Amino acid sequence: MEEEFPHSECYRKALYPDQQVTVDVMLDGLIRTCRDASIFEMHEDQTSFVQYVQLFGAADALQNSRFLLQLTSDRNLLNLERRERAARLKRRLGKICQYARIEQLIKMVKRLPNILFRWVEDNLIGTGEGTFEIGVDPMDAVSRGLQGELSSQDIDAINERFPRLARNWDQRRFINPRIHAELRIILHLSPTLLSGSLTVFLSAHAVQRPIGCSKRSCLCCVLWIDAFNSGTRMLWMTSGSHGKPYDNWALPGAAGEMKGVRAWRRFDEHVIMGVYTRLTDTLAGVRKLAAKRISDEHASSGSDSDGSEGAEDDHIGKIWAGDHVAGLPVPMN
Ligand SMILES: [Zn+2]
Repeated sequence: MEEEFPHSECYRKALYPDQQVTVDVMLDGLIRTCRDASIFEMHEDQTSFVQYVQLFGAADALQNSRFLLQLTSDRNLLNLERRERAARLKRRLGKICQYARIEQLIKMVKRLPNILFRWVEDNLIGTGEGTFEIGVDPMDAVSRGLQGELSSQDIDAINERFPRLARNWDQRRFINPRIHAELRIILHLSPTLLSGSLTVFLSAHAVQRPIGCSKRSCLCCVLWIDAFNSGTRMLWMTSGSHGKPYDNWALPGAAGEMKGVRAWRRFDEHVIMGVYTRLTDTLAGVRKLAAKRISDEHASSGSDSDGSEGAEDDHIGKIWAGDHVAGLPVPMN
């Protein structure tokens, strides 16, 4: 059992004290627990804590299981979709478990008192944070983002390119945008760095300020940091970007407003323009693919293609897949 479910001894002892459990039963139980126990509202009380601990036990065991490892390391291209779904599940299980890792981190820091740290707990005011209900029709959002009506051909092409858009949209009608972690750090530390004496002020610009993150930054964070750096001449940096836009990204707005940074208000605008560019590029790509499909359908059997269009398709495909930060977008998750 330890081979099938590494590091799960405590969980197994708690759930199956007599140790008489088969791999099938254990796996079935883990999947059911993860599915059923993940639907609860988190509050700062004992009930939520107990629910989280139960969910954590199952998520951690499933995340480390040989079953999931086998699915995520399957190189057979015929099983590509299954592998991607398994990888997505593993990432989500990891997100559930990350709060327990934070506990471990805090314990470590307490044991090693020489590590300097500071909690960023600013209650930022004037941001785009909150809970919002999105409109019923995703096409309304697209046309509002593009500031123009979509033609019926555009709508057909978008639906064809993103067949799960309407279903995904329906499933998540409420969004909770938050200021992402790297921006919180910048908003927390920059005002002090920029408000000192002229010497401090000038030296603040010359220093590279890397921010270590557990994952690469999203599209909007990178756009905002670029604007912030050019507006303040500071050099904040993260470990790269995967180029994806997220619907849970909140505009910092007036948060952390600081004296002497005239371009402050323009940072959000820079992000909005960047997202607009991404949206228009996406639509251009969708139209191009739709036009190509129609032309292929009308083409004679003796095609005169020399393969260059295939290369272009491949290029677009890679950009869709999010390999290119400034290129065409991938659909929001
Ligand atoms: Zn981000």
